[in-house]
Formats: sequence, C-alpha cells, structure tokens
Amino acid sequence: MTPRYEPHEIEQKWQRVWEDEGAFHVPNPVPGAPTAENHWYQLEMLPYPSGPSLHMGHVLNYTMGDVQTHVRRRSGWHVVRPMGWDAFGLPAENAAIREGRHPRETIERNIETMRAQMKRLGWAIDWDREVAAHQPTFYRWTQWLFQQFVAHDLCYRREGLVNWCPNDQTVIANEYVVDGRCERCGAEVELRNMTQWYMRTTAYADELLEYPDAEWPERTKAIQRNWIGRSEGAEILFRVDETGDDVAVFTTRADTLHGATFFVLAPEHPFVAAHASEEAQEYARHAGTRPVEERAAATKKTGVFTGLHAVNPIDGEKLPIWVADYVLMDYGTGAIMAVPAHDERDGEFAETFSLPTKIVIDEDGKLVNSGRFDGLPAEEGARAIVAALEEQGRGRSTVNYRLRDWSVSRQRYWGCPIPFIHCEKCGVVPVPEDELPVILPDIEDYAPKGRPPLAANEEYMNVDCPQCGGAARRDPDTMDTFVDSSWYFLRYIDSHNDEAPFDRFVVDYWLPVSQYIGGIDHSTGHLLYSRFFVKAMNDWGMVGFREPFARVFHQGWVQLGGLKMSKTRGNVEGPDEIVDAYGADAVRLYILFMGPADQDMEWTADGVEGIVRFLRRLWRVVHEVAESAPAPGATEGALARKANETIARVTDDVLRRFQFHTPIAALMELVNELSGSADAPDARFAAETAVSLIQPYAPHVAEELWTALGHERLWEAPWPEADESQLLRETFELVVQVNGRVRDRFEVDAGLSEEELVARARASERVQSYLDGGEPRKTIVVPRKLVNFVT
Ligand SMILES: [Zn+2]
Ligand SMILES: [Zn+2]
Repeated sequence: MTPRYEPHEIEQKWQRVWEDEGAFHVPNPVPGAPTAENHWYQLEMLPYPSGPSLHMGHVLNYTMGDVQTHVRRRSGWHVVRPMGWDAFGLPAENAAIREGRHPRETIERNIETMRAQMKRLGWAIDWDREVAAHQPTFYRWTQWLFQQFVAHDLCYRREGLVNWCPNDQTVIANEYVVDGRCERCGAEVELRNMTQWYMRTTAYADELLEYPDAEWPERTKAIQRNWIGRSEGAEILFRVDETGDDVAVFTTRADTLHGATFFVLAPEHPFVAAHASEEAQEYARHAGTRPVEERAAATKKTGVFTGLHAVNPIDGEKLPIWVADYVLMDYGTGAIMAVPAHDERDGEFAETFSLPTKIVIDEDGKLVNSGRFDGLPAEEGARAIVAALEEQGRGRSTVNYRLRDWSVSRQRYWGCPIPFIHCEKCGVVPVPEDELPVILPDIEDYAPKGRPPLAANEEYMNVDCPQCGGAARRDPDTMDTFVDSSWYFLRYIDSHNDEAPFDRFVVDYWLPVSQYIGGIDHSTGHLLYSRFFVKAMNDWGMVGFREPFARVFHQGWVQLGGLKMSKTRGNVEGPDEIVDAYGADAVRLYILFMGPADQDMEWTADGVEGIVRFLRRLWRVVHEVAESAPAPGATEGALARKANETIARVTDDVLRRFQFHTPIAALMELVNELSGSADAPDARFAAETAVSLIQPYAPHVAEELWTALGHERLWEAPWPEADESQLLRETFELVVQVNGRVRDRFEVDAGLSEEELVARARASERVQSYLDGGEPRKTIVVPRKLVNFVT
C-alpha cells in the first residue's frame, strides 16, 4: 500500500533531522591540516529585514543558491553557504516608524519570522555563521574598518554638495539617486551643502574598470564602466575677468578651444553662489533641483547670463559666463567652454540665446580660425594646444571620471555609529580601538528631523577627547548601510571572531565568492563598493585577493498578475500561504520551473498545481517500484539510458549553464517514462536516479522516497554520474567555410564547445589547404551549424 503524500509531515520531519544532525554546518579549514581542493562559496545577497516576511523574489534567489549548494556538495565540493541580515538603514527604520515601534524591535521580530520561513523552505544554510549588521559584535568591526579607511586616507571629511532626500531627511549616495529621485522613496532629491564623510572610491577608479579575476555578466560590467565614466582630455583654466578667479573646465575637445564663444557654469557650481548676479542665483536655486537626467535630455535650453566674463587662455577672448542647467556638476568640473559650432547642446543653447558661433574644424578634420594651430589635424591640434597651455600654466592633459567619492554620513538614527570624536583643540579624533564598539544608544525620539537624532542625546554626544582629555562631542551621524554590506561576506567566514573582523587564512581559503546571486539594481552601488573595499583591504594585507565576487548572476523579477512582486508595489505575497497550501518542495520546484532564472517570470496558481501533480506522480511510481523491485535491478535498457541522459543534462544545466528550469523538465520526462513501465528490469535504477536528481530542488520528498527505496542520507550521497557508454550521443553536421565558401562538412558531437568546434574545423586537411598555412583574421562560429574562417 502506497502511503499518502503529506508534504507538511515529511517536511517537518526532515527539517528536524537536518537540524539535529547539523547537516549543513560547514567547518572552516584549520591551518596546517589538508584543505579541500574544490571549495565553493555560495552567496546570495542578504535580505533587508524591513518587511514582515520574505517575498517571492527571495524565494527564487535562495532556492537557486540552494540547488547549487546541494549539487556541489554532493559532487565532492567543500561548500559554504551562509546567511545574514542587512538590518541597519533606511528601509528598516522607515518600517519601524510606520509601525510606531523601535527599529530594533521591528527588525528583530522580522528576522525571527524570516529565519523561520527560511527553515520552513528547507534551505541548506549554515546558521552557525549568521550575522546581522545591527549587532554590536558585527558593527564593532564595521567601525574598526571605517577607522582603517580613514587611517589610509581612503575616507575623509569635507564640505560639499550632497543629495538630500526631503522625505527621508537624510543624505543619499549618488549611486542611489535614480533620475533625480531617491531610490528608496521616490522623492525628488535636493542639493545641500554639508560636511560629510566620504569613501575615496575614486582612488581605485582605473582598477575598478577591469575585471581580471572575475567572470561577470557583460551587461553589469558595462553599467559599472559607464558609471565610472573614464575619459581622457584636458583641464584648462579660464580667468574670470571681473574677479580674477580661475575656473577650471574639463574638455575632451581641446582642439576646438578657439571656437569657444561663451562659458557655462552648472547651477550648483560654487562660483555661482559666490559671485553671480542675483538673477542668476535665483535661476540656479530652481534649476539645480531638477532631476539630472531630465536636465541632460531637455531639448528646450534655459539659462541666465551672470554679468561676468571668462578669458580664453589661448587667445585672450572674453567669453560671457552663463548659468545653465544643461551643464551638470557631476561631470567634469561643472564648468564648460561652449563651442556651439562643434557641440550639439552648446549649439542649441547658442541658438536659443542668439550667441555667436565660430567654426574651427574644417571638413577635412583640420584646425581653422585657430591662429598658429591652423592646418593641424584635430588630434595633433589638441595636443599642441594643451602643450602651449601647459607652458603658461593654464592647462594640462588629464583623465576625468564620472565617478565621485561615496558620501557615507547619514543624518538618521538606525545605523552604525561613526567612531570619531570632534574636539575643538585636536580636531577629528578616532575613538580608541579598545573602546569599540561605540554602542548605538536606545533613544525614544528617533524620527527624522533634518538633523541627526543622536545630536539631541547629550549623554551620547558629550565625551572626553581621547587625545587631550578635554570636553568633546561624538559624531552624531551614522553610516550608510551600504558600508555594512561592503564587507558582510567576509564576516560570514569568521563570524565568531572577537579579535579581528576575520582571520586572513580562512578568508583566503573561501574567497573570492564562487557564485554571487542578486539583483542587477545593485550594479553601481553595492557591487562597486564591495570591490572598492576588497581592493583596499588587499592593499593593507588583510586579504589575499583583489576581487570579492568571482561570478555574478542576476535573477529576473517574479511577477504576479504582470506586476513585479515587491514591497513598493504593495502586492507582496510571502511564501507562507503558498507553503501552507502546497508544501515547501512544490514551492521550491515551481519557483525555478517558471522560466530562465535571469528573466522575469509570472507566478500562477495553475502552474504550482501542475508541480504538485508531478510530485504526486513521482511519489506513486517510486513507491510502486520500491515494492515490486526490492533488489537492485538492471542498469541497462531504455529506462536506464533515459536516466543516464537525465543525469548528464541536469548536471550540465545546473553546474555549467546555470539553468534551473530545464533540469525540472528533464526530470518530468524521466518520471513520465518510468510511470509507463514501472515493472521494467531497469525501473529501479531509473527511480533511484530520479529521486537522487530531484533532491537539490525538493529535498524533503526526495529524502523520504530515498528511504522508501531502502537507502539513507541522500543529502550526503554522491551526486550521480552518467554512464557515458549509455548516452545516445547527439551529433550534427558541421559545415566549415573559408571566406564564406563551404570547404568541408563532417559529423561532430553536439556537446562540443565553440573552441573545440574551431579546433576540429582547423584540423580538416581540406580547410588547411584553403587557409594556406596562414592565420584567419576572424573566425565566426554559428552554434550547431558552421565555422567560417575569414582570411
Ligand atoms: Zn527618500
Ligand atoms: Zn582634544
């Protein structure tokens, strides 16, 4: 008699077993002892515990990571898979304000709930490594690291313009301003002049453009490169005729310097507030708050003449200085020489305000109307002009970056306290190391007011200066929560260490992270900051690697009724009700079955019910086989062949192709065939294979069925290996062309990589005679079809 499939009973039972056994606890290597050759650090971006529940996007992410973890573990890899909580920061604090509670209360309750949900889904997590950013045992080291950055001149204080969210009442980093709006709440961002701590991310700008040890999606690298925005050009000094001040411009077109007919400052340029006319200042106050993207793209140009003039250093020409919002402070110096004849936007501006235009590059790309530089080709002309300016001390060639240093001070309560003290006599003094952590005090009124809530807490603020012993004040700001997430993945590795943030030996063993899974929306923020942190720590000798994440994968969005399932959309459906209805195994299978994991997908009730039917069929047929074929059966035959093919497919899809939906389809085919011939001599082999292969996706039901088949501890059983001799080799006819003409064709294995296809094609004697011993200039590969050599 086949027992009923009762997912809730089975799931609770096995979760208890794993917990009691410490099944997914993974010890660190010990110095001197032999270490595993194959080790794997599986990491998914840690959740913000700001919501009361996990959402389905988390379920997708962590189930993907779980499948990787199980398949690697069972394939003989030493796999670490930790979890933690991005507990500080705005989302958490805003959630607490909405609830009218203290953030710690809200956050710790949410962590409890989310942890329980994770356990209910049966994810193989090493909970012994758990960290939360708001715990003093964690933020002690965030503070310690902050002081290291300051000591190495990679973190500093300065006054400058910052993005201010009027709704969240705090500064936000450039990386989290989207289209001029706060990424968190959507409010239009204002500019304010404030003294802030900055991380000197620009110190690594050039290196951040390269990814020597990291296989990242091209799209993500392109987003980061674009954000860093490196361009080579020249910095040229213009003197303001009326005031005698020098204002620098950055240009990539020094060749057009003689064509400058006016000069433009961004509304935020400090010179405007200092010297421009009242009318220009009034304009700047309004224009500066318009969203940057909108300003850059606006077709209708606006601006105001300041009443001042800038002297062109190459010919002494006096250019009227305008303030206009099409010039952005975050590119170059926030000031430009306008060359309407050779720049489209300058041209539009000149037309709007009837300003003169002067052509200085002719149709042949040579300089004209440029005095002694006439006749030079543009590039040479640019070099000659910069050299001439350099002699007068009015210019130099330089590299400009769009990237700006990362502002990390926040005027909010719920964050890591900044471990510095301000003394009138001694300046800014670090809190002595043995006094760390500076504990975030419990305060009652933490609502945002535009000034840091901690500033009102006299008990916290008043402190003796560690240097002179005189009365001093603490820094009332807290750190951007992205400081916490820039290093959490290092702390996971050594989360109980109370002597140091982590031990270099264990971190060097596990890192770089083998596979990181998380949203592409963090490309210019978290993923860039973490790289900056690791490069700095490598320079200080704290870690032996320069890139934190060897591989990155971005999941798609889980949609419900065509809408993204997310908190801001208000249509969050957490996993609880779905697990209640169908069981964790069904949810895990379905979330990965919906489609390619890097594309958006639609959750439907019909879909998950289809998966439940599949699990019941598997349950029935495996029990049938267990009863009718108790002994080990044949390992050859049609079913065994199908089983072997399924092993090869599932393994390749998960480990090499990072595809999670196609293995489920393959398993469904296998179970279908098995259902039709459960009495075949090789049915037992096929049933065992199906159960073994489904384990990473549906670990509970797999464990139960494994027991029914008379085995134990599937979570530790070796991952099945396909018997090559039983694989039906799929082949195709490869066409080989030289310069587009067919020169040979022959059968090849469909599993060959592109490099192998090219090698086979080149090995053909007929092809070699056409290549005539030379190297092809270009090789074009059309997968499963042809190789074309272009000579
Ligand atoms: Zn905001
Ligand atoms: Zn002092």
